[in-house]
Amino acid sequence: MADTSQRPASAPSRRKAGRHRGEGQWAKGHLTPLNGNEQTKKDDDGLNVRTRIETIYAHRGFESIDGADLRGRMRWWGLYTQRRPGISGGKTAVLEPEELDDEYFMLRVRIDGGQLSTLQLRTIGEISQEFARGTADITDRQNVQFHWIRIEDMPEIWRRLEGVGLSTTEACGDTPRVILGSPVAGIAADEIIDGTPAIEEIHRRVIGNPAYSNLPRKFKTAVSGSPLLDVAHEINDVAFVGVEHPELGPGFDVWVGGGLSTNPKLGVRLGAWVPLEEVADVHEGVVSVFRDYGYRRLRTRARIKFLVADWGAETFRQVLEDEYLLRKMADGPAPEAPVEQWRDHVGVHEQRDGNYYVGFAPRVGRVDGGTLAKIADVAEAHGSGRVRTTTEQKMIVLDVAPGRVESLTEALESLDLTARPSVFRRGTMACTGIEFCKLAIVETKARGSSLIDELERRLPEFDEPVTINVNGCPNSCARIQVADIGLKGQLVTDADGEQVEGYQVHLGGSLGMEPGFGRKVRGLKVTAAELPDYIERVLRTFQEQREDGERFAQ
Ligand code: SF4
Repeated sequence: MADTSQRPASAPSRRKAGRHRGEGQWAKGHLTPLNGNEQTKKDDDGLNVRTRIETIYAHRGFESIDGADLRGRMRWWGLYTQRRPGISGGKTAVLEPEELDDEYFMLRVRIDGGQLSTLQLRTIGEISQEFARGTADITDRQNVQFHWIRIEDMPEIWRRLEGVGLSTTEACGDTPRVILGSPVAGIAADEIIDGTPAIEEIHRRVIGNPAYSNLPRKFKTAVSGSPLLDVAHEINDVAFVGVEHPELGPGFDVWVGGGLSTNPKLGVRLGAWVPLEEVADVHEGVVSVFRDYGYRRLRTRARIKFLVADWGAETFRQVLEDEYLLRKMADGPAPEAPVEQWRDHVGVHEQRDGNYYVGFAPRVGRVDGGTLAKIADVAEAHGSGRVRTTTEQKMIVLDVAPGRVESLTEALESLDLTARPSVFRRGTMACTGIEFCKLAIVETKARGSSLIDELERRLPEFDEPVTINVNGCPNSCARIQVADIGLKGQLVTDADGEQVEGYQVHLGGSLGMEPGFGRKVRGLKVTAAELPDYIERVLRTFQEQREDGERFAQ
């Protein structure tokens, strides 16, 4: 493969390499790869694997795939090998990657802003049924994930997705991932500003652009002009949050450096106000700072949050302005705390045009291709051509006339997609877990779903907003640390001294009104079998001891 040096022409070149290898920051002249991942990216741009998939691998099959492509560059097109069935969580850390690899793939479809037409949704449903054994999970980053994908089918899958304006480009990998957007952008009556044009412009400039396809690690973006703060902006690498500037009017407050995983950090404000038409400039600047100054020595320190933590907001803003934007940004106000704890848009809500949007709750984001196609049918039958995915693993049908709302909610209900879910169905999320994920230690989706059933049966009167996030390992894809009850999958010792599936419990985390990380109480681990009893106990204790107006997260 060609040695296409990944350092773009626009990266600063005046700095010379120091005597020490440092953190592998390109801007400090450290261009020699310091680990295997950096070497793979330098050897060949991940974007280039698409051609090999279409011309070689799809014809010759799984066995023909080069190892660096299989476990590295495939991600640049949304493909991860999935976990070989039947391997227990205890083996996750001890087996070699090739022993965990199945010959099938997870494929992630990026849905920037969570915005889908019914045609796009139906196409996703059809691909799921034809090529993915019916699988289609809604993720908490507004994507859809298929499983059981064969490499042979990828050219046809891309042809169909791209035929309706969807893509898998940089859905995974060390790239600018899907751009989160308010699921009610452009329609909500209380919206401060519609961020959709900024999302489209960021996508146009950055996604699939080789200047940004070799970042130190993944880079997550969020844009929302909703006062509900509905894109988890506090835990994104860069976020633009709608604010009303007292003199300059509606625009965006800029946040950088948020992220969870095993070393969680909340994003920090730069104190800068950006108008809608300059969001893409600032985004490009921030992603360039990350590309050039981000740490590339250790994968565990390569996210932008570590750079921001070391520099602080003031230095970060100064470098961004002086070296990339070449202008100063205006100072601006912080967003106000949202008045509601739920940020998922579930339920029936009036739009600014007098129509309604209806948010509904699949179980822990799990749907299937047939159901997605039926949602498209139901939406169209009720006069809607648009749906949205949310950052809480929920979905929304837009543009429903007032007289059609009841019929739509009944039709959704018949698909087990309720717009009036219990607090448990509404507040429970789960990551992929051991069913398909190679990093998983425990089961998540099925357990989250049965937990909902158990809690609905045991606590039918409980109506306090509560979030329960079930994760299969410490990587926190379903946000362990910012849930009221965050569950981190691990093996625990049961009463008989056996190692069984269980969870480390984090209590009292939240985003939005009072963001903060849950407490990891030492020794607070429960087996999977004990989980319903444990959570019932916690919630009953809260009910008995709470004071007027107290929320679970307080
Ligand atoms: Fe996989 Fe762990 Fe992420 Fe769950 S949290 S999807 S188990 S990496």
